[in-house]
Amino acid sequence: MELKKTYDDLSDFCKSKNVCLVAVSKTKPIEQIADMYTWGQRVFGENRVLELVEKHNALPDDIEWHMIGHLQRNKVKDIVPFVSMIHSGDSARLIHQINKEAKAVDRCIDILLQLKIAKEESKYGWDIESLVEFLEPTPSSELTHIRVRGVMGMATFTSDMVQVRSEFSTLKSYHTRLQPYFDASFDTISMGMTGDYEVAIEEGSTMIRVGSLLFGAR
Ligand SMILES: *Cc1c(COP(=O)(O)O)cnc(C)c1O
Repeated sequence: MELKKTYDDLSDFCKSKNVCLVAVSKTKPIEQIADMYTWGQRVFGENRVLELVEKHNALPDDIEWHMIGHLQRNKVKDIVPFVSMIHSGDSARLIHQINKEAKAVDRCIDILLQLKIAKEESKYGWDIESLVEFLEPTPSSELTHIRVRGVMGMATFTSDMVQVRSEFSTLKSYHTRLQPYFDASFDTISMGMTGDYEVAIEEGSTMIRVGSLLFGAR
């Protein structure tokens, strides 16, 4: 009951702010996801391909599955038939691979460009300058089976909310800077997790990815 109340409150808060809530269900059992489904949640996020495929097979078809973790190119084909958004578009080769596999199954996949915003050294994500270099010579018309919906980023893991706020504000400015390369459907800023979603929304987030608050600690 406790978790349902937490879910209802967060879900209502997101609706009032016009923010999409991605319930991050990684490591959590099917039954817990099924419960949240009965409470009305339809968008779930996972960060591992195998787990995502298994859960997709076991749960209702109208769930929108979001891949939020780093994706290896040889695993793209396993999720492309059903995934509704990939948040971790972090390299040119991966983006081309998603386009290719999406074409093979005649789908168009929504993706986000994952950018580095944290102070700590992070393995995945674009530097803004490399991303601009990639976008300049690559007309988006070449990528016929993906739709680039926006950006995603993770702030530094710190309790210093001044730092976190400034990183989210940076991601928001990157979104503005990249807008000219895309059309009006480039409307998504995926930022904010359990510890920082309120700050993220204040800084312009349109999509939060929340796990432990909703499902309990992992
Ligand atoms: C696990 C994870 C989340 C959710 O983290 P919580 O702190 O549990 O809310 C969000 N985004 C990504 C990319 C994750 O891997």
